[in-house]
Amino acid sequence: SKHAPSLPSRVWSRWMSVPLWLQILIGMVLGIIAGVSLGEDASYLKPIGTLFVNTIKMLIVPLVFCSLIVGVTSMQDTAKMGRIGFKSFAFYLGTTSIAISIGLLVGNIMQPGAGLGLQTSEIINEVKEVPTLMDTLINIVPTNPVAALASGQILQVIVFAVALGISLVLIGDHGKPAIRVFESLAEAMFKLTDLVMKLAPYGVFGLMAWVAGEYGLDMLLPLIKVIIAVYVGCALHILGFYSLVLSAFGKLNPIQFFKGIGNAMAVAFTTSSSAGTLPASMKCASENLGINKKISSFVLPLGTTINMDGTALYQGVTALFVAQAFGIDLTWVDYITIILTATLASIGTAGVPGAGLVMLTLVLTTVGLPLEGVAIIAGIDRVLDMARTVVNVSGDLVATTIIARSEDEIDVEHYNADMEQSAII
Ligand code: ASP
Repeated sequence: SKHAPSLPSRVWSRWMSVPLWLQILIGMVLGIIAGVSLGEDASYLKPIGTLFVNTIKMLIVPLVFCSLIVGVTSMQDTAKMGRIGFKSFAFYLGTTSIAISIGLLVGNIMQPGAGLGLQTSEIINEVKEVPTLMDTLINIVPTNPVAALASGQILQVIVFAVALGISLVLIGDHGKPAIRVFESLAEAMFKLTDLVMKLAPYGVFGLMAWVAGEYGLDMLLPLIKVIIAVYVGCALHILGFYSLVLSAFGKLNPIQFFKGIGNAMAVAFTTSSSAGTLPASMKCASENLGINKKISSFVLPLGTTINMDGTALYQGVTALFVAQAFGIDLTWVDYITIILTATLASIGTAGVPGAGLVMLTLVLTTVGLPLEGVAIIAGIDRVLDMARTVVNVSGDLVATTIIARSEDEIDVEHYNADMEQSAII
């Protein structure tokens, strides 16, 4: 007869059946416990965390490069598509930069990382020459794209990827093979991201042990402050900014809008995936908001791929948290860099759980903030992900509504009608 599996293997298979976000949370809690009980000795666990941070770093350049090209090339076809595509693109970029500004504002007012006094092992140029805004703007065009890729100049990589993507679309059929290659590589990079994220619980364990060993329980309060700051920012963006946009640009009642998209918001909150929420959003758009499917079937998937207001807002708050926690002063050039990077990065963020965390590394790298910050945020990331995904999805639906309105493709009577039965998924 077969004997029962040994205890360790039973524990392991039990552990592997725990969802990743919960594993990360457990990693964080165990890390804090280990750190508090080991004290300074917990720094021996830090290399596990550093290894994780290095694997994340490995992803950044190829992930951004490939997924950005795919994001740009996914906008193809006819003149009308072109016009709607342009409108959507402009709208998406505009709202995203507002979102990140709100994040920066909230992060500045609430100061979630103030006084933490973390130390980084990364070498940060203390006396880095502050480049002028002019220099920063001129430098975003790489003179040598391969050098930009090799040295990880993210802004330059983004600019080149967007330019290459547009050119690939412009050459029509000739661009197709290359686009397929980038689609395939982007797919592989998403998979690799997936695999790397499986290491997160252990990395988070190591880094939290180190942080807690060094600073005791003092770092718990700041993490709670980060959560509050992100939720406050998200609420401001949805209830304040989106309501304003709907009434000012769309001459539409925001309350009707939020009643109509409640289901999509609930799905977004629980799944933390705007891609996964797409079917629910489509249904809300046509059945509750009265938007013509011709518009929503183009603008919504596009938004799901490139529009991430919540993610950008979160990156604003968390970048400030990291800067504050490590006592790094940011110049106004840094702020502009954060706004630019996060806005452009949102184009390359996949609508899947945890994607924003990987993109956070990009923002931090660009302004020269320590990546240990990512692992500290990782422990609470799922809670933040739920809120930012709701904003991402709502933003896509606001854009779709406004664009439908401008193209006269929304049935306003339907929009204003009460929908009792249709509200059920
Ligand atoms: N989970 C988010 C979404 O699907 C992306 C992110 O991680 O920020 O919209």
